[in-house]
Amino acid sequence: MARKTTARPAAKTVPAEPVACPVCKGSGQVAVTVRVGRRRRPVGQQDGFCLNCFGSGTDPDA
Ligand SMILES: [Zn+2]
Repeated sequence: MARKTTARPAAKTVPAEPVACPVCKGSGQVAVTVRVGRRRRPVGQQDGFCLNCFGSGTDPDA
């Protein structure tokens, strides 16, 4: 009795292309306004760590 070859379950393919984080647009960093003093006077902006993707630049919800 010849055993029929069973169809292998199709492996679920995960999309390889990462989706860019919508917050930092894939850069992993966001501009953060720097404030000083009690009046919280803005003195400029600096690059800050993107808290949405944790600096990876890819959308964690994608
Ligand atoms: Zn991000």
